[in-house]
Amino acid sequence: TTRLDNKTALVFGAGSSGPGWGNGKATAVLFAREGARVVCVDRVAEAAEETAAIIRDEGFEALAVKADVTASAEVAAAVAQTVATFGSLDVLHNNVGITEMGGPVELDEARWHRAMDVNATSVFLCCKHAIPEMLKSGGGTIVNVSSLAAIRYTGYPYLAYYAAKAAVNQMTVAIALEYAKQGIRCNAIMPGMMDTPLIRTQIVGQYADADDMIAKRHAACPMGHMGDAWDIAKAAVFLASDESRYITGHCLPVDGGLSSR
Ligand code: NAD
Repeated sequence: TTRLDNKTALVFGAGSSGPGWGNGKATAVLFAREGARVVCVDRVAEAAEETAAIIRDEGFEALAVKADVTASAEVAAAVAQTVATFGSLDVLHNNVGITEMGGPVELDEARWHRAMDVNATSVFLCCKHAIPEMLKSGGGTIVNVSSLAAIRYTGYPYLAYYAAKAAVNQMTVAIALEYAKQGIRCNAIMPGMMDTPLIRTQIVGQYADADDMIAKRHAACPMGHMGDAWDIAKAAVFLASDESRYITGHCLPVDGGLSSR
């Protein structure tokens, strides 16, 4: 299908932090399969290139760009390269996110600021540089990858992550309403418990019996299994495309029912 035909999509965090499919990588590839020209941005150059290569191998157009979402000049350069290469910017997908473990006592200030920078300030910076380009072509769509942690305590003491993702949700609302008359829609996805390379790496690093922990996480989900990166990618295509043309300022849980329980 071609729900993003003739669109240019800029995906921040388009690599994967482990082998297999992270949310950003699956989303970049699905955007391409839906007709978009995709700019794959990652802090890790090889990760961006790997995703772009998958897209090109499938016969679609992609560009790999190395940029850190916490560096305003690098984000601006990625936006400029997008427009220089493909002529416009229609879809902005903000996927980058990190967790920093700890409550107020354990968390040191440096990690607090890092979590806020990477998860929340990044959304501000990417929107700051992308919105003026979207306005030049009459609008566009922004999809922020938040987390269920924005609205629920998920069982882990990630103080800064909760705070930063809540900020992402409210930025989503503010941007949506400020630009609603100018053709820009802005929505967020809140993944629940997902089986991604990022989570696998964290679990393997933290628990002696990683397989048991993964089985427990599957069992804890109302549908009996965790979601995966393609569940996020499919929601992202919906929110990025005209299929959701009357939806803006919405934070959509993609969690197999977890938040309704
Ligand atoms: P991922 O780590 O596999 O992919 C993210 C990519 O972002 C990596 O390639 C990494 O190199 C890149 N990156 C990290 N810091 C960066 C920076 N400063 N600048 C540019 N790129 C940077 O993660 P994922 O599984 O694709 O998940 C991404 C998003 O989903 C995050 O926002 C995360 O908070 C959210 N999320 C994930 C889960 C889950 O279970 N995996 C649950 C809830 C929310």
